Amino acid sequence: MEAAEDVVIVGAGLAGLAAALGLHRKGVRSLVLESSPSLRASGFALTIWNNAFRALDVLGVGDKIRKQHLQLQKLRVMPSATGEIAQEVDLTQQGKQRGPNEIRCVRRDLLLQALEEELPRGTIRYSSRIVSIQDDGGVKVLQLADGSVIRAKVLVGCDGINSVVAKWLGLATPSYSGRSAARGFAHYPDGHGFDPKFLQFIGNGFRSGMLPCNDNDVYWFFTWTPSENDKGVDESAAKMKRFVLSKLRGSKVPAEALAAIDRSEMSDVLAAPLRFRSPLSLATASIARGNVCVAGDALHPMTPDLGQGGCSALEDGVVLARCLGDALLLPDGKGKEEERIEAALREYAWIRRWRSVELVATAYAVGFIQQSDSAVVSFLRDRFLSGVLARRLVRMADYDCGTLAN
Ligand SMILES: Cc1cc2nc3c(=O)[nH]c(=O)nc-3n(C[C@H](O)[C@H](O)[C@H](O)COP(=O)(O)OP(=O)(O)OC[C@H]3O[C@@H](n4cnc5c(N)ncnc54)[C@H](O)[C@@H]3O)c2cc1C
Repeated sequence: MEAAEDVVIVGAGLAGLAAALGLHRKGVRSLVLESSPSLRASGFALTIWNNAFRALDVLGVGDKIRKQHLQLQKLRVMPSATGEIAQEVDLTQQGKQRGPNEIRCVRRDLLLQALEEELPRGTIRYSSRIVSIQDDGGVKVLQLADGSVIRAKVLVGCDGINSVVAKWLGLATPSYSGRSAARGFAHYPDGHGFDPKFLQFIGNGFRSGMLPCNDNDVYWFFTWTPSENDKGVDESAAKMKRFVLSKLRGSKVPAEALAAIDRSEMSDVLAAPLRFRSPLSLATASIARGNVCVAGDALHPMTPDLGQGGCSALEDGVVLARCLGDALLLPDGKGKEEERIEAALREYAWIRRWRSVELVATAYAVGFIQQSDSAVVSFLRDRFLSGVLARRLVRMADYDCGTLAN
C-alpha cells in the first residue's frame, strides 16, 4: 500500500497535536502518524506555564484547560534539610511579555484530548510506527512497521526523545543527565484541601515537587541521582513509593505531602532516566533540512527542572504552523512550492534554535543546583540562590510565541 500526503507529522504528543491543530486552523490538512493505539498520556500531569497558555489560546483550547484546572498562586521553595520556607514567589505577578503570569498543573490526558478533539476526524492514524525514511527526488518516503508506505511532501518529526526523524537529520543523541524521575498522582474523591501552591523540596540529593491539578487531584514528582544503594527500587510501584517516602521522611517535608504520596498511584515508568540534548550541539544542529524538520522533544529534550519541555513543544507547534501554513497556502505564482517550504522550515528553525538552547541549558543548571547535596552548593543555594532560581522558572515562561498569522 502506498499513499501520498502533503504534510506528515510523526507523533501525536503535545508537539505533533499542536502543529496539526495550528495547520488546521490555517486551513492546511496534515496526517499525524502515531505508533501507539491511542493517545499516550503517561506521567499523569505537567506544569503548564504562561508561555504555553499563550500557545493554547492561539490554538483555541486555552479556556477549556483553564476550566478544568486550578490556577496556582505561589511557588514555595523549601530546602529539605531545614524544612523552612526559603522563598515564596508570587506566580500571578506581571510578566514583561504577556500580562500577569498563569500557571496550572494540567492533566496530560485532558490536554491531549482537548487538542485532539479540535482536529478533523481521520487526522491521526494510530498504530502507525515509522521505521525508516528515504528520499526520492525530494519527496520523503516513509516506511511503516505495518508494511505500508507513505510519500510526504513535508515531514515533521514530533516523535519524542528517541526520534527517528531527528536521527535522519543527524541531530546528536540525547545525553543521560545522571538523574532519574518518579511521578505519582493522588486522587481525593472528597477534595484534597491543599492550597493552590506549587511546593518544591530541594537539596539532600533530590528535587521534589507537589501541585494540585484541581480540587480532587494532586500530582507530585521526585528526581534523584541513582546510586548502588538504591538498586532495585524500580522493581515495583510499592518499592519505589517506599524509596521516595524514605528520602522525604529523612528531610523535613510536611506530613500532608507525605500522606499524598503514600496514597498515590505511580506512573507506568517507575524511574524515568532524564536525558537532554547538549545545548552546544543544538546551536549548530540541522533542526530543518529541505522539507524535513523536528519539534518538541525530538528537537530539544531537556531535564524537567523548568517544567518547560511540553510548554515549549506547544510553542514549536504554533511557530511551525505559522511558517509552514503560509508557505503552503500561497498561490503557485509566488515561487516554486518546494522552495517556499524550505524557506518556511528555515525560518522555523531560526526562531526556535536559541529558545531551545536557552531552555535546555537553564533547565540543566537549575536541576544541578537545586538537587545538589554538595556542602558548598547547598550553602550558596539555601542562602543566596534559591530566590534567583525560583524567579528564573517564572522568567523562562515569560515568552510569546506569536499568533498563527505572519
Ligand atoms: C519527569 C518529567 C516531568 C516533566 N514535567 C514537565 C512539566 O511539568 N511541564 C512541561 O511542560 N514538560 C514537562 N516534561 C516534559 C514533557 O513531558 C515533554 O517535553 C513533552 O511530553 C514532549 O512532547 P512531544 O510531543 O515532543 O513528545 P512525546 O510526548 O514523547 O510524544 C511523542 C509521540 O510520538 C510517538 N512516536 C514515537 N516514535 C514514533 C514513531 N517512530 N512513529 C510514530 N509515532 C512515534 C510516541 O508514541 C508519542 O506519542 C516532563 C518530563 C519528565 C520526564
